[in-house]
Amino acid sequence: MNENTVPLRDMILLKEGEVVLKGLNKRYFEQKLSQNIRRRLKPFGRFIVTAMQSVIYVEPQDGDADIDGAFEAMKNVFGIMTLTRAVACEKDKDVILRTAMKYLDGELRTAKTFKVESKRSDKGFPMTSIQLSQYVGGELNEAYPNLTADMHTPELVVRLEVRERAAYVHGATVRGAGGMPVGSNGVAVSLLSGGIDSPVSTYMMAKRGLRIIPVHFFSFPYTSELAKEKVIDLAKLLTAWCGRMFVEIVPFTHIQEEIRAKCPEEYFTIIMRRMMMRIADEIGKMNNCGALVTGESLGQVASQTMEAMQCTGAVAELPVLRPLVGMDKEEVIRIARRLGTFDTSILPYEDCCTVFTPRHPCTHPKLKNVEAAEAALDVDALVQEALAGRELVKLDPRRLS
Ligand code: ATP
Ligand code: MG
Repeated sequence: MNENTVPLRDMILLKEGEVVLKGLNKRYFEQKLSQNIRRRLKPFGRFIVTAMQSVIYVEPQDGDADIDGAFEAMKNVFGIMTLTRAVACEKDKDVILRTAMKYLDGELRTAKTFKVESKRSDKGFPMTSIQLSQYVGGELNEAYPNLTADMHTPELVVRLEVRERAAYVHGATVRGAGGMPVGSNGVAVSLLSGGIDSPVSTYMMAKRGLRIIPVHFFSFPYTSELAKEKVIDLAKLLTAWCGRMFVEIVPFTHIQEEIRAKCPEEYFTIIMRRMMMRIADEIGKMNNCGALVTGESLGQVASQTMEAMQCTGAVAELPVLRPLVGMDKEEVIRIARRLGTFDTSILPYEDCCTVFTPRHPCTHPKLKNVEAAEAALDVDALVQEALAGRELVKLDPRRLS
C-alpha cells in the first residue's frame, strides 16, 4: 500500500469522564452519553458512534460530515473528559508510521524535540508499546532532521494507540466539558430570569447530569417582548451544554398586580418569589422533576438572606438546588463570560422583579408574617391561572459557527 493512496480516516476520540467511575450503573450512563452525543452530532452530518473501553469513537460516515463543527460541539457535551482528533489506520507498524508522517507532517516539520508514546490494548499486536514507540520514534528521527528525541519535556508528543478495531494516530488532546451526561441524574425545573446568575446556575446543574426545563415568569406589559426574547436567547445559548430544551413562559402580570394591590409593600418581593416557587413546583411535578434550581446566592439581595430563602423554599415540595449559594458575583460573572451568556444578560431590559421592587424590602422575614401578608391572595386560583396561560418554546441546539 502506498501512503499517498491511504485515505486518512479522520475521526474524534472522546474519553469519558466521571461516567467510568459508576460501577454497575456504568452502562446506563454510557448509553445516556452516547445518546446525547448522537443527538448533538445531527446538525453536522452522518456519524457512527461506538463506545469501547471508556472511549467513544465518532467517525464520519461520508465525506459530507463537518468534523470541525462536530469537534467544537463535542467540547460542550457533559460527561466527556477529553477530546482528541485522530486518524485510524491498519494495525501494522509501517502503516502506523506512514500515517503519523502524513497526519502530523506540519508539527513534525516545525518541532525541535519530540517523543512517541504508544498504548496497546490489543495484546495480539506483535510489538509491545515500548517497541512500537522506539520503532516509530527512530524512523521519524531519521525522516525529520530537525527533530531530537526528548523523553522529559518534548515540544511534540506523537501518540499512538493500538486497539481492537484499528490503530490510531492522535492529534492534540483538549479538555472536555466534564460533568455527567445530561439526563443521567434526572430532570429539574430551572428558574431562568434574564439576569447573570440563573443562566450560570442552569449550566451548573446540567453539568451534574440534570435535564433542564427552564421556566421564565413574564410580566407583559411591565416588561417588554424584548425581555422575553432575551431570556429565550439565553436559553438558546445554554442548549450548547443542556441540549434540546422546552422553555416554559409563564404569565406573571396578574399575580404581581394582585400582590401590589393586596399585600404589604415590604413583602412584595418575597411573596412574588413564593408564587414563582409554587408555580415552578407544579410544573416540576407535572414533568417528573426531582428538584427546582435557582440562581440565588446567600446575601446577594434582600430576597436572598437565609430567612428569605427559608420563606421562598417553604412553599416548594421539591428540593431547591442553589448551586451559586456560596459564590461571589465575580466568580459567577467569570463563568457567565466563559459561557457567552454575560453579554446577553446585561442587555438593559427590565426584569419583572425590578418593576415591582419595594422601597424598603424586609430582609429578615419571619415565615408566619409572610404567610399573614399573603393571606389576602387567592393563591391556588392565581397559580392555576398562571399555569393555564403558559407558553412552550422548543429549542434545539444550534450549530456553533
Ligand atoms: P439573576 O441574575 O438570575 O436574575 P438575581 O440576582 O437578579 O439573579 P433575583 O431576581 O432575586 O436574583 O432572583 C433570584 C432567582 O430567582 C434567579 O436567579 C432565578 O432563578 C429566579 N428568578 C427571578 N426572576 C425570575 C423570572 N422572572 N423568571 C424566572 N426565574 C426568576
Ligand atoms: Mg434577576
